[in-house]
Amino acid sequence: MSILTVTNLVKHFHTRVGAFGGKPVTIRAVDGVSFHVDAGEAFGVVGESGCGKSTVGRAVLHLIEPDEGMIELDGTDLADLRPSEMRALRPRMQMIFQDPYSSLNPKQTIGAALSEPIRVHGKASGDAVMQKVKTLLEEVGLPAAAADRYPHEFSGGQRQRIAIARALTLDPDLIVADEAVSALDVSIQAQVLKLMKELMERRGVAFLFISHDLGVVRTFCKRLAVMYLGRVVESGPVGTVFDKPLHPYTHSLRAASPIPDPSARKALARLSGEIPSAASPPSGCHFHTRCPYATELCRTQTPKTVEPVSGRTVACHLHDPDQTDAMLATKQNAIQELFFYD
Ligand code: SF4
Repeated sequence: MSILTVTNLVKHFHTRVGAFGGKPVTIRAVDGVSFHVDAGEAFGVVGESGCGKSTVGRAVLHLIEPDEGMIELDGTDLADLRPSEMRALRPRMQMIFQDPYSSLNPKQTIGAALSEPIRVHGKASGDAVMQKVKTLLEEVGLPAAAADRYPHEFSGGQRQRIAIARALTLDPDLIVADEAVSALDVSIQAQVLKLMKELMERRGVAFLFISHDLGVVRTFCKRLAVMYLGRVVESGPVGTVFDKPLHPYTHSLRAASPIPDPSARKALARLSGEIPSAASPPSGCHFHTRCPYATELCRTQTPKTVEPVSGRTVACHLHDPDQTDAMLATKQNAIQELFFYD
């Protein structure tokens, strides 16, 4: 049962003037993204900076208005809601940011910061508010006495625990975690991920987990979508996508995560250049300027999304049965180099 369904989401940003006072430009941040998140599941959205993954998270939370497409929470299309209905639904979706410090008021105690949403949304009243705050702090591994302290008195990992406690104040069904552990040391990262996993299992809350790090997504999520320049290029169960990537870009991402795999290192070595600008994405397959297997077809024709294995999708001509003849020679090279076919 899906708690979140995103269908053909499109979001473009228009600048008033371009770089150095030039013409206005359109940033195609998200260009037809679809996925779903099951209730109580952690679903990862992974890709490099600038691929549009944070825009997806902000659109899901209704912080920005999509240009096209549909976002449904538990079957309700968010676009159909009146402002009062949206306000009533908002507590069911919460967010955890990369830098919790910037979202905490330095002059407010943790107790005050956490009790505010509880009071505003009528989740408790009177003494029960602070009791709920203390229970939440203990649930995320902090002492109840932390309620009387200020944000600067905590370490980065502790502040992220506070951010998680705050996200839980309204008992959400879905938490959007955008690079939530990226700023933490590896050992603290592991502790925070373990905590989120426990909360997911205990409370049945689902996570939309946005990260640039495929390795982190692997430890936390069940399924994932890989994004490149506003599009989903591959999706499926984390284990199989990680062990046998279908898309050349997923191969290179896997190589960038800290795993000792010689074939993955080779793929990384062959990935050239920076991610192009979303203001002028390459024609055809957006990845063709960096892909070692790009052909003329890739430069002119957008690959369609196919499902070569049940439950897995990929947008690459190498996997499209309709393009087998056009891609034959390239595919043979890819099979030898990437070993991504059974
Ligand atoms: Fe590479 Fe072509 Fe596949 Fe794009 S469609 S990933 S350029 S082989």
